[in-house]
Amino acid sequence: MAGARAAGLGQRPAAAQHRTNASNAMSAQPSASACIFCRIVSGDIPGQCVYEDDQVAAFEDIAPQAPVHLLVVPRRHVDSVDALADDPGLLGRVMAAAVAAARARNLAESGYRLVTNHGRDGAQSVAHLHVHVLGGRQLRGQLG
Ligand code: AMP
Repeated sequence: MAGARAAGLGQRPAAAQHRTNASNAMSAQPSASACIFCRIVSGDIPGQCVYEDDQVAAFEDIAPQAPVHLLVVPRRHVDSVDALADDPGLLGRVMAAAVAAARARNLAESGYRLVTNHGRDGAQSVAHLHVHVLGGRQLRGQLG
């Protein structure tokens, strides 16, 4: 994710700013109109993304649980991490972008947490794979 670090994750790289309608269609899939994260990634809800490339996007969580709380998502609709077992390449891109996001928010030294939830018992509330990037204060130790 050198591109993400170069973009500083506080700005959209030029390539993303000049994204065409054709490339926006990459994220289109049957449930796109109903999926809030698909709508953010496609630009249907404007001005939300802090970073995006051809496969991955990052945006601020609407209800932050820490001073830094970003969500990193694949541009194409994937229900959760459980659906990506057959696509380790995309999974790697999402995780690399999450690390780059944390670095870009200067969290590498102080520390941060990456979390992704799957399904009911995992308390997943939005059915589009997302990795939470949390940091900026001492996080509580309980995960379950
Ligand atoms: P999870 O419970 O792991 O599925 O997390 C879903 C996250 O999505 C929560 O932290 C919500 O605050 C966040 N969220 C829901 N709707 C939006 C939205 N429109 N924009 C940004 N974040 C959102």
